[in-house]
Amino acid sequence: MREDSLYFNPDMEPLLNTPPMREAQWEKLQHAIRFAYDKVPFDRERMEAAGVTPADIHSLDDYARAFDPVRQADFRQVFERFDMDMQKSLLHLFGRERMDDLHFISTTSGTTGVPTPYPFFHKTLDLATELFGRVGWRAGFKPGTRLALCFGLSMHVAGIPQVFWFSRLRGVTVLPIGAEAGTERILKSMKLFQANALTCTPSLATYLVEKAPAVLGHPVRELGIKTLLLGAEPGAGIPEVRRRLEATYGATVLDVGAGYGVSCDYPEYQGMHWIADDHCLYELVDPATLEPVPFTDGATGLACFTPLAPEAGLFFHHLRISMNDLHQVSTGPCPCGRSGFRYRIVGRGDDMLKVKGVSVYPAAIQGVINGFVPRVTGAFRIVLTERPPLVTPPLKLKVETGEQVAEAELPALEREIVEKMRAVAEIRPAITWLPPNTLERATKKTQLIEKRYE
Ligand SMILES: [Zn+2]
Repeated sequence: MREDSLYFNPDMEPLLNTPPMREAQWEKLQHAIRFAYDKVPFDRERMEAAGVTPADIHSLDDYARAFDPVRQADFRQVFERFDMDMQKSLLHLFGRERMDDLHFISTTSGTTGVPTPYPFFHKTLDLATELFGRVGWRAGFKPGTRLALCFGLSMHVAGIPQVFWFSRLRGVTVLPIGAEAGTERILKSMKLFQANALTCTPSLATYLVEKAPAVLGHPVRELGIKTLLLGAEPGAGIPEVRRRLEATYGATVLDVGAGYGVSCDYPEYQGMHWIADDHCLYELVDPATLEPVPFTDGATGLACFTPLAPEAGLFFHHLRISMNDLHQVSTGPCPCGRSGFRYRIVGRGDDMLKVKGVSVYPAAIQGVINGFVPRVTGAFRIVLTERPPLVTPPLKLKVETGEQVAEAELPALEREIVEKMRAVAEIRPAITWLPPNTLERATKKTQLIEKRYE
């Protein structure tokens, strides 16, 4: 491994998104299918329900049509079937061989209902070190990097697990501050230990910008953070949010997650580079019909993942599992020169709103609102008075005005925002203005939707 290399793994990463890699994937997939059928009750039942055995699948095309993808939400039925007995549920979902190798468990943030478990096996450690090595390398982490890790540490999948993996990148020091510390302690700890990189949610990174002057006595830029690696919610992939964070921190802002990917430092956002063809099969399916979507430049669909070495799976442990994220892929070369096709998050399957037949994603609204900072703070909520996805127009938004905005300026500002929304998202929202800092700031995931229905 040389410090001037483009890649953490210079033998493997140049092969990403190439025909030889495709062939190697098919070889590995046959093992993965056999493992799932023989050793994972949950996957075997899925195949049996579809009337398929491993012997029926002769190619990647066969595989794409053999059975429907599964969503993590489907795990809930398993928990209910086993009467919330988590040990029995996990055994059914992951199989005896992997459960005997269980290392620890983390979960989704679980803001609603039972959190989805993410088990980690001893065999996962090497794979995780490899994949997070690739991510960290592309993010520019190198000896001397002091990474403030400010995701939730309590059970959260992006917390303690990432402490393990990034700290195995030689020379990188992880500062496990955690979102639970709260903004004041986060800012003070980063300053005290001279963090020069930060990984957290985009909403926390934005909140720190607002709080830094009061807590530290200077703007966040003076902390000297050079890289922001942001994930767990959209933000860093929204051009307006990214530009704003780059300007306020004086840092490179990268987007990570929703699969094994990280964006690059090319000035215009190019999506996240998929860095794991050798470990995971990536497919797109139509969100409505679940039919395969051909993998071509610009294609959009629900992303599905199949671990190619399921014994060592990281995040994904089942055949064709979807996180309910809609991706758009760019299959050609990236102007940054690094390997891997790219994917952008278009929205979440369950986030989509339908306003007069037009599909609208909260991330698109967030992009427009953030384009109006500093005349707005960037904080807003979508107020739903009926169960989504159907919304009777107009879509209702609560938006915070900027600190320096006079009331007399609001009607004109409102007209500008509505016009931009019409151009970008084909909606004409109704805006209710709020004073700055009215809406709750979350250190973990920000809920952009305010539910006013039962
Ligand atoms: Zn790139």
